[in-house]
Amino acid sequence: MSKYNRRDFSKLIILGGIGYTIWSCANDKKEQKGNTTEEDTTPKMPELLPDHIKIYEKADAAYQELAVRFNKRIQQAPTFIAQCFSTEGVVAAMKFAIFKDVKVVVKSGGHSFEGFSSTNNGLVIDVSAMKKMQWNNDHSIMVETGCVLKELYDELLPKQRILPSGSCATVGISGLTLGGGYGFFSRKYGLTCDSLEAITLVDGNGNIHEEIGKSAILKACKGGGNGNFGVITKMEFRTYQAPKYFQAFRCKSYKLDTKRAKNLLKTWFELAETLPKSSFSAFVLNGKTLTILITNYDERAEADVLKVYNALKKISNKGTIGSKRALPTALKTFYGVQHPLYFKNACAGLYKDFSEIEGCIDDVIEKVISTSGLIYQVNTVGGNVNTKSLEKRSVFPHRGLPFWSELQSYWEKPTQEERLVTAFQEIQQRFYDHGIRKHYRNYPDINFKDWQTAYYGKYLPELQQIKQQLDPDNRIQHPQSITV
Ligand SMILES: Cc1cc2nc3c(=O)[nH]c(=O)nc-3n(C[C@H](O)[C@H](O)[C@H](O)COP(=O)(O)OP(=O)(O)OC[C@H]3O[C@@H](n4cnc5c(N)ncnc54)[C@H](O)[C@@H]3O)c2cc1C
Repeated sequence: MSKYNRRDFSKLIILGGIGYTIWSCANDKKEQKGNTTEEDTTPKMPELLPDHIKIYEKADAAYQELAVRFNKRIQQAPTFIAQCFSTEGVVAAMKFAIFKDVKVVVKSGGHSFEGFSSTNNGLVIDVSAMKKMQWNNDHSIMVETGCVLKELYDELLPKQRILPSGSCATVGISGLTLGGGYGFFSRKYGLTCDSLEAITLVDGNGNIHEEIGKSAILKACKGGGNGNFGVITKMEFRTYQAPKYFQAFRCKSYKLDTKRAKNLLKTWFELAETLPKSSFSAFVLNGKTLTILITNYDERAEADVLKVYNALKKISNKGTIGSKRALPTALKTFYGVQHPLYFKNACAGLYKDFSEIEGCIDDVIEKVISTSGLIYQVNTVGGNVNTKSLEKRSVFPHRGLPFWSELQSYWEKPTQEERLVTAFQEIQQRFYDHGIRKHYRNYPDINFKDWQTAYYGKYLPELQQIKQQLDPDNRIQHPQSITV
């Protein structure tokens, strides 16, 4: 990539320590040829006003800070990072990319499992500094897309409002929502994207779109919007009355062998199907240790939850019932690690029930319990996520599959990676061979073979059409962005 040259950047002003701020560079006039006026279609250097955008290169101190991603396993070095502070800043960033003829990736919370919010050689449009929130009324809130979950919860919870979203503090609300988004409240209120009512989007040509209601673009961003065809700068969400308390139940089992772990999993599947919509559960097999988590926030459903908990406790080594805590306090206990880690996580399939994995689960469990550091987790989603009217307004294709699984592994030193990632891939291959091919877009695996259909199913053609409409030059791209 060539550096700025004198002709392109005749009025380039370098502000020490904060990168390049270009005030006014290009000849914006139309070219005169004889008596006719022809539109000059040559890309122009956009005006980069410092209140709206700053562009950094590798030598800048700010570049180093902005290049950090949550997954330390994936190190990439973009040519430029455009830190944007407004929709206008994002427009300028897109025009800068067109002018420099580089590809674009979008970054918000930086939690992509596979580093899809960074790139080598291209431009990162970084919206993480855009954090304004504004209430439209007592239940609808406009959120700029740089907000992370804990910032959003700090705004919602004091007003006794919730959004059915994830639990980890530093995950970006935009990356999460654009791929679907689920958490403790999803079985009652749907996916996070189901509460998305309006967006502002900058397309691959730098045009601004305000989308609301039955817009096809809004629909495409509800499950298919991650770094595919535009940069979403604002989101408007409907919110819900927060529950008065939140309670967690846990069952633990130790030193498991394959047979016992499988029996526990089978029983958990059967019981989890009977949980009320106010309840979420996760089966977390970490090596030979199993934790089953059940949560609830509705007193009227407590008897049903206790029935499941007591049945699981009987076949576990230990059970604990947490106290009923105020929601803000309880949610903080699930905020998780907030600094970058070495890890490989990915979806391991979305299933209807245990029968879908029965034929391969012995091999999977065997591998997990013989590989310390590997985690196999299944989560309950389902409930009201599987609602026809919600499906109609989104592109999330897997609503009929209430069990969402994931593989996880974390390590401290790069030398530990190979052993874990090899075992990880063996499990993924086993699931694939068994026909498990439906996956959650927000838990990507770079090795998924048919990832477009795995993530988007029947909605793929619709998404390809939107890609063609909004980003015909495929300016916005990462290794698993939609291709036409
Ligand atoms: C520790 C951890 C916990 C998690 N917990 C949950 C959970 O509870 N529930 C759940 O559903 N998911 C969860 N996830 C997955 C999470 O939803 C995805 O990783 C999500 O894509 C992260 O979004 P981000 O903005 O933080 O990441 P980024 O890396 O910034 O972005 C992720 C993807 O979205 C795109 N993108 C981000 N912002 C925009 C935008 N404004 N416009 C267009 N494209 C954009 C990026 O280009 C990239 O492709 C978790 C992930 C981690 C690492």
